[in-house]
Amino acid sequence: MTRFNRRVILVKRPTADATPDCFLVEDEALEPLAEGQLRVAVEYISVDAGMRTMLRGEGYHRQVALGGVILAGGVGRIIESTLSDWSVGQAVRGGLGAQTLATVTPEMVERVDDGFGPLSVHLGLLGGSTGVTAYIGMEQVAKVKPGDIFAVSAAAGAVGAVAGQIAKKAGAYVIGIAGGQRKTAFLVDKLGFDAAIDYKGQDVSAELKRLAPNGINVFFDNVGGAILDAALDHLALRARVVICGAISQYDDMDHVTGPSMYLRLAERQSVMEGFAYFHFPERMEPAKAQLSEWLAEGSIVLPEEILTGIDAYPEALQFMFSGGNLGKLMVKAS
Ligand code: NAP
Repeated sequence: MTRFNRRVILVKRPTADATPDCFLVEDEALEPLAEGQLRVAVEYISVDAGMRTMLRGEGYHRQVALGGVILAGGVGRIIESTLSDWSVGQAVRGGLGAQTLATVTPEMVERVDDGFGPLSVHLGLLGGSTGVTAYIGMEQVAKVKPGDIFAVSAAAGAVGAVAGQIAKKAGAYVIGIAGGQRKTAFLVDKLGFDAAIDYKGQDVSAELKRLAPNGINVFFDNVGGAILDAALDHLALRARVVICGAISQYDDMDHVTGPSMYLRLAERQSVMEGFAYFHFPERMEPAKAQLSEWLAEGSIVLPEEILTGIDAYPEALQFMFSGGNLGKLMVKAS
C-alpha cells in the first residue's frame, strides 16, 4: 500500500511577513522504507519565532531550501520500523519537519515519555526551543536572585511565559511585557506575575519607571527594537540583560534596528549577554528533569495554542508574528 505524506514546502522567500503564499501544501507518495529507517506519524509541529529567519536566503541560521520541506521540530509516533530496537507505537521527538509522515533514521529522533498526557508537552514546556530554552537562559545567563526586579518581553509567548515563572520561583518581582489586555491579564491572574505592561496600549518606558523606580535588575529579551531600548533606559546598577531573541527584527534582517540605548550598559555598570540553548547540551537533561518535576507538581504551566491540520501551517507564522498565540504555538498535523 502506498502511503502519502502531506508536507509544507517553501515556494517563495518572504521579504516582509511570511504570508501564506510563501508556502505550498502538497501530497507526496512515499517509497517503502529502506533498511535503518523509521516512519513517524507526526502529531504536533512546533511553530517557533526563529523559523522566520530560516526562510531567508542567507544568514547564520539554518535555512530552508526553496522547494524544501519547512524545517520544524515535531513529535509523533513510529508507525513503521525496520529496526528491532525502535518499536511501532514509540513516541519520538526531533526535526520531523512540517509534514504528516516523516521518514527518519534513529539519530534524528529521541524517545519521549508517554506519561505526561498529550505529546504536545514535549514541544511546549519540555521542548528544547521552549521550556528548555527558558530554563537555560535563566540558569546560565539571567541568574536571578531573590528580590531582583525581573522584566521579560513577549512574556505571554512560549519562552517568555516560562522564563517569568522561573523568575518568580527564584524570588524576583516579575514584570511581563506583552501585547494586549488578554495577555497582560493572563500573566498576572494565571501565571502570578507581579505586574504586566501592554506594549500596544501603554508607554513601556513610563510603565517601567512607575513599576521599578530604582530600575530593573534583569531583563530577559525576546523582542529587541524599541522594547529593548526602553528596558536599557531603566536598568538598575549592575543589571543583566539577556538576549534570547528579537522577534521584532526577524521580518527584515537586512535592516536590524540596534539598541540606541546601549551606552546605559556603561553608565549602569551592566552586562548584556546572548545565548542559544543548543550551546548547553549538558544542561538539557537537567532542565527537562526540573521542568518535568514542576509540571508534575503543578507549579508551572504553559498553555498551548494549537492550529488544527497541516493545511493550517502556512498561516501559523503570520498568526504568531501578529501576536495571535498565547503560550506555545503548534500545528496539530494529524
Ligand atoms: P512566542 O513568544 O511564543 O511568540 C512570539 C510572540 O512575540 C508573539 O506571540 C507576540 O506576542 C510577540 N511579538 C511578535 N512580534 C512582535 C513585535 N514586533 N514586537 C513585540 N512583540 C512581538 O515565540 P517563541 O518561539 O517562544 O520565541 C520567543 C523568542 O525566543 C524569540 O525571540 C525567539 O527567537 C527566541 N528563542 C531563542 C532561543 C535561544 O536559544 N536563544 C530558542 C528559542 C526561541 P505579543 O502579543 O506580546 O506581541
